[in-house]
Amino acid sequence: MKELNKIWLDGEFVNWQSSKIHILNHSLHYGSAVFEGIRAYKTKKGSAIFRLPEHIDRLFYSASCMGMKIPFSKEEIREAILKLVKINKEDKCYIRPLVFFGYGKMGLNPKGALVKTAIINWPWGAYLGEGKPIRTVISKYTRPHPKSTIMNAKISGTYSNSILASLEAQKAKVEEAILLDFQGFIAEGPGENIFMVKNRKIFTPPKGTILPGITRDSVIKIAKNYKISVEEKKITTQEIKTADEVFFTGTAVEICPIGKIDKTIINKGEIGEITKKIKNTYQKIVCGEEKKYLEWLTFV
Ligand code: PMP
Repeated sequence: MKELNKIWLDGEFVNWQSSKIHILNHSLHYGSAVFEGIRAYKTKKGSAIFRLPEHIDRLFYSASCMGMKIPFSKEEIREAILKLVKINKEDKCYIRPLVFFGYGKMGLNPKGALVKTAIINWPWGAYLGEGKPIRTVISKYTRPHPKSTIMNAKISGTYSNSILASLEAQKAKVEEAILLDFQGFIAEGPGENIFMVKNRKIFTPPKGTILPGITRDSVIKIAKNYKISVEEKKITTQEIKTADEVFFTGTAVEICPIGKIDKTIINKGEIGEITKKIKNTYQKIVCGEEKKYLEWLTFV
């Protein structure tokens, strides 16, 4: 990966190569970290970060779920993110805030463990498919039962489930997996929410068994502003395979059309009309070209 100049660690900007941690970090052993994925985009008025307050709110919520008290205010984290993007001179980048239990205490009860906070950014292009429809498989792994974890928190440990599904997709020689929930309904991708279009109406799985993404929320708002109906409902495998269009949403993946699920081709393997409309609008919004949505951008 391309190395940038600085990383923000516990209130200081340190050199990229000096951001070292001890091997006995609690979070490395037990997955007890929380994190965010944010994107900054190049606009005519410089770099802009998409829905920054929402990402910071989710970071603090995830940390509170893990019993972590972040030793910085939301405002301080916001300032640190803006400064980091500026000093690393990378207008278009991915930003990864990470809060983790540090060195000094082992054992599953993290009480008393040091809370460490880092922010890293790096250039990251298309996460999947380069804009072209991707192939997927329905995973044999189900998303965690909502009573076995906190589904609306971004907890590192939960991502072992996503990694297993991604390995399965790789083995099947396709780009991504789709995971079902504990009842066998469509849930989400390893790092993406999922939508389908049927008879010009949009459907997406309800909250409860998914990470309710900030891109998902944006897509719902964009569609509603276009007067396209959006319904949150449980979706079966059969329903999604007979949909007119299917797409993933997420900070990393943005809006990504799905052209194949298992052996079933969706919309002749091409991007659908409604997916295209939302994808184009999303691209314009993040680049500051849609006045109506400027409030979603924080300029660096
Ligand atoms: N689901 C999962 C499991 C994810 O990891 C992500 C990425 N954060 C998403 C959905 C999409 O969330 P967002 O749009 O906030 O990036």
